[in-house]
Amino acid sequence: MSIQLVTTVAGLRAESARLLGAKRGSSQGLVPTMGALHEGHATLARTAVEHNDVVLASIFVNPLQFGEAADLDRYPRTLDADLALLEEQGVDLAFAPSVEEVYPGGQPLVRITSGRLGEKWEGASRPGHFDGALTVVAKLLHYGTPAAGLPAGTPDGASANGGLPAYRAYFGQKDAQQLALVRRMAADLNFPVEIVGVPTVRAADGLALSSRNRFLSEAERDAALVLSRALRLLEERANAHEPLDLDSALALVESQPLVELDYFDVVDPDTLEPLAENCRETPFRGEALALIAAKVGPVRLIDNVRLSS
Ligand code: AMP
Repeated sequence: MSIQLVTTVAGLRAESARLLGAKRGSSQGLVPTMGALHEGHATLARTAVEHNDVVLASIFVNPLQFGEAADLDRYPRTLDADLALLEEQGVDLAFAPSVEEVYPGGQPLVRITSGRLGEKWEGASRPGHFDGALTVVAKLLHYGTPAAGLPAGTPDGASANGGLPAYRAYFGQKDAQQLALVRRMAADLNFPVEIVGVPTVRAADGLALSSRNRFLSEAERDAALVLSRALRLLEERANAHEPLDLDSALALVESQPLVELDYFDVVDPDTLEPLAENCRETPFRGEALALIAAKVGPVRLIDNVRLSS
């Protein structure tokens, strides 16, 4: 079946309800994106298609989460290619609304506040970014909520979810702070949705796929590889139960003149608070996230890896 494109919230609700009924489906998945889709997004979509009877993907470049107007203006827009990629993964519905459709009254007065968790790391360099991102994610999660009214006793999640269809939303671990915040928002504000984190998809040489990679020159792309190499070094040390020795990994990044490092640290995976110094000098034990962000040429890149030992 071919993918359908809808541009209004009413259209999305009507079509997703129709599909859920037509398929006698008992689960619905949502994949929020900003378009310019690549294999990372495709993996999110494929995972959602494996888990759910009906899958919606949104394509919306959210002005609320951009600091600089220039960054918003130059964000790549590739709708036709995006629709083809989503269709290939088996997504049922693509939702690509205008800014006016999502914010009919202009900028929303009331927003989600990301709090302390949103002020550090990416939030420190991009003030207001996560408030804007969570506000649109909250709206998208509402739009994608499956319609009630399925026949009783439908298999899968429907019975586990009080008779309602199961509802899941898919986010990449690539944006680790965003994922942690979306999980907290859903838990703190009782959103009736399961948040599913999907592992980071990388190019063969290790660079995490990103819609912004297309703005890197060849030399910058080569230089950017130092981010995933430094993370890999920490991962290898954690796997070998060795001290993480963050300083030597940091020195590797700083040896690359085209890379302007913003932050590089090892943090608790839920609170994103830096871990005690001892995980650097004594063998690493436990669970952590290593986070890195840097500017390479015109592009701000982020990456992370989960450490477990
Ligand atoms: P974006 O379009 O960049 O806002 O990303 C939409 C979703 O795709 C987010 O949940 C991202 O975390 C996820 N994503 C982006 N890049 C990757 C990647 N390389 N691997 C896995 N997920 C990704």
